[in-house]
Amino acid sequence: MIDFTLTEEQEAVRKLARDFAVNEMRPVARHYDEAEEFPWPIVEKAHELGLINALIPEEYGGVGADKLTECLIAEELFYGCAGMGTSLMANSLALTPIILAGTDEQKRRFLTPFTEKPIMASFCLTEPGAGSDAASLRTRAVRDGDHYILNGTKQFITNGSVASLYVVFATVNPELRHKGIIALVVERDTPGVSIGKVEHKMGQRASDTAQVVFEDVRVPVENRLGEEGEGWKIAMRTLDSSRPGIAASAVGIAQAAFEDAVKYAMERQQFGQPIANFQAIQFMLADMAIKIETARLAVWKAAWLWDRGQPSAKASSIAKAYATDIAMEVTTDAVQIFGGYGYTREFMVEKYMRDAKLMQIYEGTNQIQRLVIARHIFKEAM
Ligand SMILES: Cc1cc2nc3c(=O)[nH]c(=O)nc-3n(C[C@H](O)[C@H](O)[C@H](O)COP(=O)(O)OP(=O)(O)OC[C@H]3O[C@@H](n4cnc5c(N)ncnc54)[C@H](O)[C@@H]3O)c2cc1C
Repeated sequence: MIDFTLTEEQEAVRKLARDFAVNEMRPVARHYDEAEEFPWPIVEKAHELGLINALIPEEYGGVGADKLTECLIAEELFYGCAGMGTSLMANSLALTPIILAGTDEQKRRFLTPFTEKPIMASFCLTEPGAGSDAASLRTRAVRDGDHYILNGTKQFITNGSVASLYVVFATVNPELRHKGIIALVVERDTPGVSIGKVEHKMGQRASDTAQVVFEDVRVPVENRLGEEGEGWKIAMRTLDSSRPGIAASAVGIAQAAFEDAVKYAMERQQFGQPIANFQAIQFMLADMAIKIETARLAVWKAAWLWDRGQPSAKASSIAKAYATDIAMEVTTDAVQIFGGYGYTREFMVEKYMRDAKLMQIYEGTNQIQRLVIARHIFKEAM
């Protein structure tokens, strides 16, 4: 049976997130974008309302939200502001390896503080020389008794300069490629951890993106998630889990652009009538609606599969690639509908377009999503 009815709880969380997006995020979205400032006050309020870290299970002090609920929250937060949305949702990405692969003791130690105070975590996979080919990472973990000595640099790390906890993927032997990768939880105040370059970005400028540098950092073996050699599997499973949320976030940006475009088309007069009367504009708006609706369905399907414990990697990649591609198209068309005004900072559509671009790049570019999808196609055809 197919049922698109949300539970009362999901409806309530969705409304809470929408109200927060409209009343708290939107009024300050332009400020944080222009100032390139980390939105701590927004993080604090979102934490109070339970809109971040929703995935943390109840036994560790969280609410244990399902994937669909997380997607509903993500869509609304990105409707409010994508830069702040990325800041808020990055904890889910960073904490998922602990939720998926941590022992009870590790979960208690590392997850519980996130339910108690508004602190940030980062997922550290990418390196200067290892982006799409993440398995070629070079950050080295050398065993020394009951510690690993960690050396390396992680690139483009969301919340990198503001996080108090890092989940770091490193190799015990680069020749083993993915089989040599381990996942380590590293606390920010461990000697040898420092912040490198902080990026200035085209969009999502309220989010923090930084290099994180590890120099002879002594990490206790008890901070390793899973066994040696399981790090790659943990990273890939984390990304399977997080991609529906990225797709939902892209839908939120597209929805915001669409609503602004509809309103503007009905108000803007040319040739003695609203531009909404022109079929060229109507078709653009209709195409936007088609794309948003189908993308949202792809998100919900991927989340539904994950929540039922069914294989969801292909559906997650389809949702991620499709929703983020249509977000780019919809925001670009929204700028077009605003004409010259759309290209100015007087309206938000230029920001939506800048923000949407990142969605096609992070958490695996859309080329990489298509490789994942193709791999599944051929496996299924065998
Ligand atoms: C703002 C921002 C935040 C980020 N946050 C995080 C984070 O929190 N943690 C983290 O670990 N990483 C993070 N990333 C890194 C992000 O996931 C990578 O940028 C992304 O995976 C691509 O890697 P790259 O930038 O090195 O590009 P490259 O891998 O160098 O790719 C360049 C181009 O080549 C294409 N390409 C590469 N290989 C193939 C192939 N086999 N087939 C076809 N095309 C290919 C890519 O699609 C892309 O178009 C973030 C990046 C940004 C920009």
